[in-house]
Amino acid sequence: MKKRLVSVVVPAYNEEEGILDFLDGQLLPVVDSLSYEVEIIVVNDGSRDNTLREIDKSKAKKRKGFKLLSFTRNFGKEIALSAGIKEATGDAVILIDGDGQHPVEMISKMIAEWEKGAEIVTAVREENTTRHKLGSKLYYVTMRMFGNKQVVVGAMDFRLISRNVANEFNDFTERNRLARGLIDWMGVPQTYIKVKTKNRVKGKPTYSAKRLARLTVDSLVSASRTPLLIFGYIGVFITVVSFLFGLFILIQQYILGDPLGLDWSGAVAMSVFVSFLVGLVLISQAITALYISQIHVEAKGRPLYIIDKKKSYGIKGSD
Ligand code: UDP
Ligand code: MG
Repeated sequence: MKKRLVSVVVPAYNEEEGILDFLDGQLLPVVDSLSYEVEIIVVNDGSRDNTLREIDKSKAKKRKGFKLLSFTRNFGKEIALSAGIKEATGDAVILIDGDGQHPVEMISKMIAEWEKGAEIVTAVREENTTRHKLGSKLYYVTMRMFGNKQVVVGAMDFRLISRNVANEFNDFTERNRLARGLIDWMGVPQTYIKVKTKNRVKGKPTYSAKRLARLTVDSLVSASRTPLLIFGYIGVFITVVSFLFGLFILIQQYILGDPLGLDWSGAVAMSVFVSFLVGLVLISQAITALYISQIHVEAKGRPLYIIDKKKSYGIKGSD
């Protein structure tokens, strides 16, 4: 029987100090011990240092099925991953960072889960040892808070996806993307394996706190419309409360002639009326926001559905 092919996608941006060690020292020994054909795809995400020259020195280059994609400039890890997945031809595609933080020895475990039938195998961080503990916490907490329940705390970009999932992934057209967010969105059941992350081999992480915060905001905006609606809810609250309050003033003061003896001035009635109007404005803004969110969904042009190839029969790709 022909050996199955596994693709390994490695994004690399300014990794001159560690990429050679990662490829030759970590990845190759693991990959060579597998009883699979392995295709290694390194995506050089517009590195401005000597990353390319370092990759050139790698023994991986001499392997059959080694591919190097090199971007003209830095497009970001998410785009690099997408390019790698598109280029991959394997029956399974593994995404792994090129800085040595993702434990390569887990690759065989991922493949084992895939052989057992898993479509997506996601590595989950056992403990947070990384520098941006706070940043990633922030990401997961916000995502969950805004109703994206599929997000598992500590789930990483270190993943294996089946050919079916990779094909579906290639159908996504949105530009502003988060690879793991899209994979989660598909709703294909995932198998989680616990891993201990390591410290970077060398070099500095490029995801600064600012970039992480932006990533959080971006993925939030693309995954949930709750933030759009928050002010609408506040508007409803203000409108209802000020309406009731206004009614109270009207009846108490003007119809019954102030039996409670509050002796409120016209300014009170006026401010209640103004907050009533503010509430209305917020509501109308939320309604506009709803329309915008529809446009937003349309503009993303996501696939309409993802077919569960395991549970459907007689279609291409199902067994
Ligand atoms: N990376 C990339 N493009 C970028 C930033 C990062 O391809 O613009 C790669 C980087 O080389 C590494 C992986 O993505 O292989 C994770 O990056 P980093 O270590 O900076 O992030 P962290 O580990 O802190 O999440
Ligand atoms: Mg890293």
